[in-house]
Amino acid sequence: MSQQKGQIGVTTENIFPVIKKFLYSDHEIFLRELVSNAVDATQKIRALSSFGEFKGSLGELRVSVSLDPEKGTLTVSDHGIGMTAEDIDKYINQIAFSGAEEFLNKYKDTAATIIGHFGLGFYSAFMVAKKVEIVSLSYKEGAEAVRWTCDGSPEYTMEPAERAERGTDIILYIDDESRKFLERGEIESLLKKYCRFLPVPVVFGKEQEWKDGKMTDTDRDNVVNNTEPEWTKKPSELTDADYIRFYHELYPGQDDPLFWIHLNVDYPFTLTGILYFPKIKNNFDVTRNRIQLYSNQVYVTDSVEGVVPEFMMLLQGVIDSPDIPLNVSRSYLQADSAVKKISGYITKKVASRLEELFKADRADFEKKWDDIKIFIEYGMLTDEKFYDAAKKFALLKDTDEHYYTFEEYRQLVEGAQTDKDGNVVYLYTTDPTAQYSYIKAATGRGYDVLVMDGQLDSHFVGLIESKVEKTRCVRVDSDVVDRLIPKADDKKAAVDFTPAQRDMMTAVFRRSTPTIDKTEFIVSFEAVTPDANPVILTQNEYMRRMKEMAAVQGGMAFYGELPDSYNMIVNTEAPAVKRIDDEAKAELLPAIEPLQAEIDRLNAELKTLRDSAPDGKLSDEQKGQSTQLEERIAAARNDIDKKSAEWASGKPLVKQVIDLALLANGLLRGEALSQFVSRSVKLL
Ligand code: ADP
Repeated sequence: MSQQKGQIGVTTENIFPVIKKFLYSDHEIFLRELVSNAVDATQKIRALSSFGEFKGSLGELRVSVSLDPEKGTLTVSDHGIGMTAEDIDKYINQIAFSGAEEFLNKYKDTAATIIGHFGLGFYSAFMVAKKVEIVSLSYKEGAEAVRWTCDGSPEYTMEPAERAERGTDIILYIDDESRKFLERGEIESLLKKYCRFLPVPVVFGKEQEWKDGKMTDTDRDNVVNNTEPEWTKKPSELTDADYIRFYHELYPGQDDPLFWIHLNVDYPFTLTGILYFPKIKNNFDVTRNRIQLYSNQVYVTDSVEGVVPEFMMLLQGVIDSPDIPLNVSRSYLQADSAVKKISGYITKKVASRLEELFKADRADFEKKWDDIKIFIEYGMLTDEKFYDAAKKFALLKDTDEHYYTFEEYRQLVEGAQTDKDGNVVYLYTTDPTAQYSYIKAATGRGYDVLVMDGQLDSHFVGLIESKVEKTRCVRVDSDVVDRLIPKADDKKAAVDFTPAQRDMMTAVFRRSTPTIDKTEFIVSFEAVTPDANPVILTQNEYMRRMKEMAAVQGGMAFYGELPDSYNMIVNTEAPAVKRIDDEAKAELLPAIEPLQAEIDRLNAELKTLRDSAPDGKLSDEQKGQSTQLEERIAAARNDIDKKSAEWASGKPLVKQVIDLALLANGLLRGEALSQFVSRSVKLL
C-alpha cells in the first residue's frame, strides 16, 4: 500500500472548532469512547474465536491506557480485531466522521441535555487532541499494518506501518488547552469514573506503593476495573455478603444498605442492575451517592431522571440497559415508550420485592420500616400503580410501637373509632413527646394513636383520607378528647353560666393570656371531666393542615399569613377552674352584674328602636340614638373587661392554669416562661 491522502466524508469545512466548543464541559468523555471502542474490538475477537472464525492465538486480552508527557501523547491500545486500511476507510473516514457530523447538526442546540453525550464515538478524540493517529493490524490473514493520521481538518493520510501484534493503538497528541489529560491523577480518576466495570481488564501503568518516602511503581499492572460486577451475575450465584461488598465498592464509607433488589430482564427490553435501599443519614448522602446508569457496563451518568421513577431517586445502585436511548435529550427520553416501560418495570419489581420481604420476615421488615418508610410513602404519594401495590405491605405505626397494615389497622380501630357519620377516625400525633398529654387522654379513652412524624407524613395523612374510603385523620390535639370522634349519643354537658358570668370568665381568661406573636386564642368553656387538664389548647385540624401546606407549597400565601389560631378550652369541671369560678362569683360578679344588667337594658332599647322603624329604615334622629346606644353598650363591655382583668391580675392561679396549657404546647417561652417559673416557686 502506498501513502494515501483523502477527504473525510464530511461537508463542513472544519468541524474542529465546532466540536471543541460543543460539549465544552464534557471533554473528558473522549476517554470513555476510546476505551469502549477498544473493549468492543477485544470482545469481537473473542467472539470470532469462539465461532471458529479466528483460529490464531488470542493472547492476553486487555486494554491499556498510557501517557507520554514528553511527547504529549495519550495512547489507548487493544489486542482486539484491529482494522485494515479498508476498515479504516469505511468505519472511520466514512461512517465515524459523517456520524459525528450528523450528530452535531442534530443536537447542536440541546447538546447539554443529551445523556452522557453518547454517539460521538471515535471523533470525540478531537475534543482534546490536535492530532490523532491510528496504528492498527487486523486479525485477517495477510493483513498489513496501517497508520492513519489526521489533524482534525477534513484531510487525513493513510500509510503502511510497522506493527507486529494484532490490534490497535489510538494515539492522541493532546492539545495545549487539554494538558490536564496528560496527568496521571486525572486519567486515573476518569478511568475510575467511566471504566470501573468494563468487561475487559483495563490497565493503566503499574500499581504504586509507598517506598523510601515516595510513591513508587511496583511491577504489578494497575488494573482499574472490576470486569465482573455483581449486577452481571445471576442472583442465585450471589450471597448477601456479595451484595453488601459490592455496595461498598460503589459507595465507600457508607453504612450497610437495608436491602437490595436485583433487576434482570431480557424481554421486551434488556435491563440488569441492583438497587439498594440505603440507610440515609443526611441529605448529603442523597445528592452524592446516586443511582448510576450504565450501558453494557460503560458508565453513562448518575442523573437518571426519567429512567427511574421519581420516587426511586433516593435509592442507590446501578442500572445497566443498552435499550435506554442515550443520545437524546431528557425531555425526549421521558416521552420514549421503551423508557416508560423500563420505569414501569422498575416500579413493579421494587414493589413485588418489598412485598416478598414483608411476607418472608415481617419482624425484620418492621424493624426496617422506619428507615424505608420515606421511600415507600414517596412512592405511594407520587405513583398510583405503586400505591396499589404498596397498600398491601405499607405499615402504620402507633404510639405503642405496634405496626399494622392498612387492613389490620382498619379492623383494629373500626369498633371504637367510628364517628356518628360512619367515618373511621384515625387519630395521629406528629410529635409524641410534645403531644404527650393529648395522646394519654386519647389512649385512656381506648383510642389508638398513630405516629406520623416523618417528613412526608403530613401529605401521607391526606393520601390515606383520599384513598381509604370513609376515613378521617385527626391530629390528637385538634380537639378535646370527647370531641375527637363525635358519636351520635354525645350529650354535651352544659356549662351553667349566666351571661354575666360567661362574659366575666371569658374576660378573666382572655386578659390573663400572654400575647404571643402571630398567635391568637379563642376562649370557650366546656365541662370536660374533673381529671382532665383545667385549660386545654386545641388547633383546628383543617386550618392547621392548610397552614402546613402553605409552608411547603406556593400559591397558598393566604393561609400562610393567617395567625396560628388555638381554641382555649376552659374545663369547668376541673377543680382549679371551679375554685377560680367560685372566687370570681364571690368577689367579682357583684361588680359585673349591674354592668351586664345595663347591657341587657340598652340592648332591649336598641331593639325597640329598630323594631319601630318600618322596613328597617331609621330616620336621622333615630340613627343618632342608635349609635349612642351602641357606644354605651361597648363602654359597659369594656368596663367588664377591665374589671375582670384587674381582678385576675391578683389571681396567680388563673395565669398558672393558662401557662400550664401553653407549656404543654411548647408555646411558653422567654419572659412568660420565666414568670411562670417564679410564680410556680411562690405558689409552692
Ligand atoms: P461506534 O463505536 O459507535 O460504532 P465510533 O466512531 O466510535 O462509533 O467507531 C466507528 C467504528 O470504528 C467502530 O464501529 C469500529 O468498527 C471501528 N473502531 C473504532 N475503534 C476501534 C478499535 N480500537 N479497534 C477496532 N475497530 C475500531
